[in-house]
Amino acid sequence: MEDTPAAVDRQTGILYINPKLYFNLTPFQQKFVKLHEYGHYNLNTDSELEADEYAFKQLAGTEFRSLKQCIECLEQLLDEKKIGHKIRIDKMYDLAIQWDKDNPQVNKMSGAETQDTANAYSELLMTYAAGSQKQLSTTLNSLNNMLNSLLITAVLIVAMIFILKDV
Ligand SMILES: [Zn+2]
Repeated sequence: MEDTPAAVDRQTGILYINPKLYFNLTPFQQKFVKLHEYGHYNLNTDSELEADEYAFKQLAGTEFRSLKQCIECLEQLLDEKKIGHKIRIDKMYDLAIQWDKDNPQVNKMSGAETQDTANAYSELLMTYAAGSQKQLSTTLNSLNNMLNSLLITAVLIVAMIFILKDV
C-alpha cells in the first residue's frame, strides 16, 4: 500500500485510500484510481490491465482531454522503467487511440480535444458561412430596415409625448 494511492479488498469491496499519495492527485486522477479499484472488484480480477481498461471506459469522453488525462494518470503513477508498468502505459495509449477512432463525433462535440479537430470544425463553419452568406446578407438587410423603421417610430412616439406634455 505504500507506493499505491488506493487498493480494494476484493472480498468485501472496501476501498482503501493512501492519503499521502491519493490527495496529491488531480480530481480526474482520483476518479481514475477509484474506478481502477472498482474494476478489480466488479470484474473480480487481479489483472492491472483489465482494471485500467475498466477505469478508462468509464472516463473516456466524460470531460475535456479525458483520453490524455487517463494516459497522464498512469504515466505519473507508474514507473516506465518497470516492464509491467510500461505495458500498462502502452495499453492505455492503444485504448485512447482506438476510442478516438471509434468516437469521432463525440470528440468534436466535446469541444476540440485536439487542435486538428478545432481546425476541422472551423473549416466546416466557414463552408457553411460561405454557402449562406448571400442569404444572410439579405436577411441582415431586411433586419436593418426593420430596425430603422422601429427606431423612427420610437423617435416619433417620444416626440409626440413631449409635444403632448407641453400642451
Ligand atoms: Zn490495480
